[in-house]
Amino acid sequence: MALREILQFPDPRLKRVSEPVTEITEEIRELARDMCEAMYDEPGIGLAAPQVGEALRLFVIDTEWNDEDTERNAEVLINPEFIKKEGKTTWEEGCLSVPDYTAEVERASEVTVRALNLEGEEVTYECTGLKAICMQHENDHLDGILFIDRISRLKRSLYVKKRKKKLAAEAAE
Ligand SMILES: [Zn+2]
Repeated sequence: MALREILQFPDPRLKRVSEPVTEITEEIRELARDMCEAMYDEPGIGLAAPQVGEALRLFVIDTEWNDEDTERNAEVLINPEFIKKEGKTTWEEGCLSVPDYTAEVERASEVTVRALNLEGEEVTYECTGLKAICMQHENDHLDGILFIDRISRLKRSLYVKKRKKKLAAEAAE
């Protein structure tokens, strides 16, 4: 089966605000499976449904996985809600939808997130470190926000210029 294509900036579909999942159907389970497959293939540590063109409040993460030798243990979060955000921390972030770029982003250092899993059970995640960052980054995608929307206007415009130049060069080839 072909891997799902991951949309890349400036695809306008990345800017949409996603709708809640109303029922966990076989299609939703299939979407989650496809998203995990695409995430590991890249590889990445998180992927949100809007990144594969589905405007649904769902993301997958696996912040423990880092190479072919570690066990894959992806978590699927459906209709996630942040019930606590505390502290501040800064991490160098990247995104599968924002090619050739990383930048420091300030976020909460501790978060508590409540979401449904694929069985429709409510799960509460208390996270710090990379997992807390990843949760916030992926949840932003559900609101149409990319990490480059959280950096300075100057840095962002430099990236946008570079990206447009690259796309123009690719189109001219
Ligand atoms: Zn991302």
